[in-house]
Amino acid sequence: MFAKTIELNGKVLSDTIMSDVTSRIEAVVAKLGIVPKLATILVGEDPASATYVKMKGNACKRVGMESVAIKLSPLIENQELFDIIQELNNRNDIFGILLQHPIPSSLDERRAFDLISIDKDVDGVTAHGFGNMAMQSEAFGSATPLGIMKLLKHYGIPIEGKHAVVIGRSAILGKPMSLMLLNANATVTTCHSRTVNLPELVSQADIVVAAVGRPEFVKSDWIKPGTVVVDAGYHKVEVGNEVLQVGDVETRGLEGKASALTPVPGGVGPMTIATLILQTLESAERKASILGTISPSH
Ligand code: NAP
Repeated sequence: MFAKTIELNGKVLSDTIMSDVTSRIEAVVAKLGIVPKLATILVGEDPASATYVKMKGNACKRVGMESVAIKLSPLIENQELFDIIQELNNRNDIFGILLQHPIPSSLDERRAFDLISIDKDVDGVTAHGFGNMAMQSEAFGSATPLGIMKLLKHYGIPIEGKHAVVIGRSAILGKPMSLMLLNANATVTTCHSRTVNLPELVSQADIVVAAVGRPEFVKSDWIKPGTVVVDAGYHKVEVGNEVLQVGDVETRGLEGKASALTPVPGGVGPMTIATLILQTLESAERKASILGTISPSH
């Protein structure tokens, strides 16, 4: 048993990243003569997605950037969405484009993602950006997994040679997470809805990343003592008269068992936003030629 489980506090680290962005934005504005903007596209009425998009817009304000929030009907046709993305690609004041995942299944999300110009793909969702990240070439990383990597690095969590089990394989989270951990020399097992014997695989992990989208799906008794647990999930659940905020991992029983744990809220969520904002700044810095190149995402 561990005397104390380390809290991987994403709120504190994200505040540091946001301060850094704030201090770098002035030089970009002076050079470009405009305030860099992040465009957010929300399709449909999902309240959680609406909240995430609002938080991203607020984060822009906080660091001295601007945002353009585009809200679209869930009944929009593919071509209308594609045209909007192309318009944003052509605008000189937009340095990042975020299409909030998931969009309605009637739309072609992959095609929409891939229409985002690689220079403005600050959420790392294009196949081009993903491929570059996977091959460790210049790329903006997918914001949530890259935020998780920053958090692990900040807290000095060893990755090399460790067995990482990632639960989830979505294009925005599980898949790039697995690749980033692999590129950091972990031995990676990627699990999904067809995985057989998930509890046994999780119990072999030194690092677990839960990205399932189900409240408290990963049980604390699956986790072996000393494991680093990263919980990307966020859910509000009603228990009696109370509304509780929980992740994809059941945390009861993990204190003193996990060696480190991300809190929910205040772990992965703030790191996603800070990483997105940082990459939007880097996109603008690149244009302003203040920096010659952008950093690789690992
Ligand atoms: P997603 O696209 O719905 O993907 C969920 C993944 O979980 C899929 O790969 C799915 O497998 C897998 N899965 C579902 N049921 C499973 C089961 N019974 N056993 C094993 N795997 C199972 O979700 P996402 O967008 O990646 O998000 C995952 C979670 O992270 C959600 O809770 C979301 O809210 C959260 N999230 C947080 C942030 C943040 O900033 N904190 C950002 C993005 C997402 P299949 O591929 O086989 O269907």
